Amino acid sequence: MERTLSRFEKSHGRTEVEIRKRILQAIFEQRLPPGEKITEEQLATTFDVSRTVVRQAMARLAQDGILVKSPNIGSTIAAPTKKEARDILAVRRMVEPDIVRILASAPSRQDLIVRLDQHLAREDEARYTKSRGTQVGLSGEFHLLLAEMAGNRILVRLMNQLQALTCLAILLYAGRDEACPPEEHSRIVRAIAEGDHAAAEKEMLSHLRHVEQDMNLERGVDTASFTASIEWLRGHATAANEKG
Ligand SMILES: [Zn+2]
Repeated sequence: MERTLSRFEKSHGRTEVEIRKRILQAIFEQRLPPGEKITEEQLATTFDVSRTVVRQAMARLAQDGILVKSPNIGSTIAAPTKKEARDILAVRRMVEPDIVRILASAPSRQDLIVRLDQHLAREDEARYTKSRGTQVGLSGEFHLLLAEMAGNRILVRLMNQLQALTCLAILLYAGRDEACPPEEHSRIVRAIAEGDHAAAEKEMLSHLRHVEQDMNLERGVDTASFTASIEWLRGHATAANEKG
């Protein structure tokens, strides 16, 4: 518990939304690994809020599949299986090319480009000066920024969920747990700047393919998640007891 507590800065009187954002940020920066146990009590102490507020934040994260609640274990950070990781990337391939197509067709896209270029500069800077957690966090933020710019709140919520689950899957399966290749983000931004929506879609699609390839999702046996393993063990023990 100490280990997890130290991953959040001590903060006071946070709202449900802020707590949820902090937990998501911790996942984006790979400070909260898949399978990590989280309790209401621990979060209430860390954020100095009532357990009711914490419960609301945790319920919403559970709805989005980012926290997994199990009767005997409590709440743990999701540990996507390989099949789930493939499904997450499949949804991202359906959604994100469309996001960049919308942005490349936007009449006011020069303003968007200024913000995107600023973000790319932050990604670059982090590569030389900041921790890997910050790099990975910023590279995920690029995808969230695109969704936010498309001006659709449902899409932003969906992308937060998909990005968090992708980060967890990367920690579990990627051979090298690096941030997105920087030149690929840059190519996407250039295509948006040129208003070339076909190129923007193509670049995003190939970028997401690379993210998936790095996870080696086709190889080997699917490793059951931590939570699933414990549940299986418990179920197995129960079945054995019943037989005995
Ligand atoms: Zn990326």
